[in-house]
Amino acid sequence: MSQILDEIRDAYGLVGIEVEGIATYGTYYRLRCGRCSGPLGSVGDKLLPGMARQLVGEQFELYAVGLLGCKCGYQSERARSLDPERAQAASRTFA
Ligand SMILES: [Zn+2]
Repeated sequence: MSQILDEIRDAYGLVGIEVEGIATYGTYYRLRCGRCSGPLGSVGDKLLPGMARQLVGEQFELYAVGLLGCKCGYQSERARSLDPERAQAASRTFA
């Protein structure tokens, strides 16, 4: 397994998203909800070191308020438990 895939897996894992191990469209990996396995799109492996974490970090607010992530709400729950203050600020921003 490539180092960049490990990094992608770690970054998405923080917000409760699983990255499937087998590339679906060549260099794309399917994303699934860590709780209900609902499909959440895909991610390419052509990221540079550090980019996956940055990407997920920049999307934190969207996960926290449920604009991104699974309908079951798992990513939102994860985001709120990861950083309650930031999640609360996000819900004020997007309310
Ligand atoms: Zn789900």
